Amino acid sequence: MHQYIGGERRAGSTGESFDVLDPSTDEVLESVTLAGPDDVDTAVASAKAAYAEWSRATPVERAAVLTRAAALLDERAEELAQLESRQAGKPIRLAREFDVPGTVDNTAFFGAAARRLDGMASGEYSGDHTSSIRREPIGVVGSIAPWNYPLQMAAWKVLPAIAAGNTIVLKPAEITPLTALPFAEAFTEAGAPPGVVNVVTGTGPVAGEHLVAHRDVAMTSFTGSTAVGRRVMATAAATGKRVHLELGGKAPLVVFDDADLEAAVHGAVAANLINAGQDCTAAARAIVHRSVYDEFVRGVADLYAEVRMGPTADPATDLGPLSSRAHLAKVAGMVDRARAYAKVVCGGAPPTGELARGCYLEPAVVTDVPLDSEIWRDEVFGPVLVVVPFDDDDKAIRLANDTEFGLAASAWTRDTYRAGRASREIEAGCVWVNDHIPIISEMPHGGYKSSGFGKDMSAYSFDEYTNVKHVMHDITGVAHKPWHRTIFTLPGQG
Ligand code: NAD
Repeated sequence: MHQYIGGERRAGSTGESFDVLDPSTDEVLESVTLAGPDDVDTAVASAKAAYAEWSRATPVERAAVLTRAAALLDERAEELAQLESRQAGKPIRLAREFDVPGTVDNTAFFGAAARRLDGMASGEYSGDHTSSIRREPIGVVGSIAPWNYPLQMAAWKVLPAIAAGNTIVLKPAEITPLTALPFAEAFTEAGAPPGVVNVVTGTGPVAGEHLVAHRDVAMTSFTGSTAVGRRVMATAAATGKRVHLELGGKAPLVVFDDADLEAAVHGAVAANLINAGQDCTAAARAIVHRSVYDEFVRGVADLYAEVRMGPTADPATDLGPLSSRAHLAKVAGMVDRARAYAKVVCGGAPPTGELARGCYLEPAVVTDVPLDSEIWRDEVFGPVLVVVPFDDDDKAIRLANDTEFGLAASAWTRDTYRAGRASREIEAGCVWVNDHIPIISEMPHGGYKSSGFGKDMSAYSFDEYTNVKHVMHDITGVAHKPWHRTIFTLPGQG
C-alpha cells in the first residue's frame, strides 16, 4: 500500500496502478495503486486535523520528534539505501554515502533548528510600545517532489515545514515513491501525531494538480522542472497561496587560466556525473580559458573512459543508469541532435551487452557548440558536459550568465580577486570556489532567475514555512494617547 495518510498505509482509491521500475534492468519493483483527488482530500483533512496539536507543540517537543526520527532513519540506513538505489537507479555507493546520510543529517539539523526560530529582537521602536515578532506556522503545506533524489527531496520538503509547526501532504514523483513512505513513517514512530506527515502517491496532473489547487492547503512547495513549476504557480494563483519553487538548472563551471587544472578536471567529472548528471546543480557547462581548453577537454574525456558503468548494487559502480527509459531517450536525443551542429568528443550512446537492458548512457563531452543551440541553453539532466572556451574574464562571466537558469555555479582559480568577482557577478543561488556540488544542512539551497525562488535546507528555509507576525504592546497605559490628536482633538485641546 503506497499512500500514507493519518499515520496509516492505505491503497490509492483510483483503482489504477503504476509499475515502479528498476531503471538498471527495467524490471518491476512494485506496483503502486495511484492516489486520486479523494485520497488527496483525505490526506489534506488529516493534515488539517493534526495541525491544531502540532502547531501548538513546543519547540522542544518538535525537536524531540525530529531528533528521534533522525536516529530511526540512521538505524534503517542500509534498508533505505537499497530501496533508493533500486527505484532511482543510483549506484549503491552514492545512496549509502550521500543520499541517506544527507537525509539523516538534515533531519538532525532541523531537530536542533526547531528550537531556534528566532525573530527580531523585541524593542520600543515608537517609544510608547514594545514590538515583538512571532514566527508562526502557515497551516497545511502541499509539497511536490521530483524523481532524481527521492529521499533527499522528501526530506528537504518535510523537515523545515514540520520543524516550524506546519503539517504536510507530500506527493513524490510517480516513478520513485518508495522511500518517501518509510521516511514519513519514521516521524509517526518518533512521536509526531498521526497526520503531521502524509504521503500521496499519484500522478502530477491528477494528484499533484489537485493538491496545488486545494483550498485547505496554505502553501505549495514544489521541486521539479521549470515548465511544470510555472504551471504549478499558475494553478496556485487561483487560491492565492504561497508558493516556493526549486526548478531546473544549467550550472556553469568556470576554469580560469591560473586554476589547478587537475583539480578542475576531477571536479568537473565528479560534478557532471553525480547521480548520472540528474542533479539540478550538476556542472553542465564548462567555461574554460583557451590556454588550458584542450588539456581540460582531453583530461575530462580520459577520465570518462575510466568511469565504471555497472550494476547499481555493485559498490564498485561509479555511474548508474538514467532514471527511466523516457528520460534516456530525451538525453540521448539531445546528444544525437548535437552531432549535427557540434562535436561530440566522447560518449552519448547507450552501452551494448548486459547493461543495454537498463537505461544507461555513456558519459559525453560536447564541444564547438553554437550559443543558441539546445545543448548549450536547455537542461539536459544527464551525464553530458558541454565545454566552451573564453579569452578574458569579462567573457567568462558573460558566458556563465548566458542562461535562463541560476541555481549553482563554480569558479576555479588561485586568484582571490577573480574568485571574489566571480562569486559576486555570477547570478546563481550558490557559487563554489575550487569545488562544485558539496551541500551542507546549515547552508541554504535555492535558485535565481528561472531556477525558482525560496530556500531549502538551513534556517533560511523557515522564511518560506512561517508567517511573520508583528505584535505591538502599548506600554504607557495612557487613555488619550499623543498620536490621537492627529485624528481627533478633545475639548480644550488645540
Ligand atoms: P517534473 O517537473 O516533471 O516533475 C516534478 C513533480 O511534479 C513530480 O512529482 C510530478 O508528478 C509533478 N507534476 C507534474 N505535473 C504536475 C502538475 N500539472 N501539477 C502538479 N504537479 C505536477 O520534474 P522531474 O522530471 O521529476 O525532475 C527533474 C527536474 O527537477 C529537473 O528540471 C531538475 O532540475 C529539477 N530539480 C530541481 C531541484 C532544485 O532544488 N532546484 C532539485 C531537484 C530537481
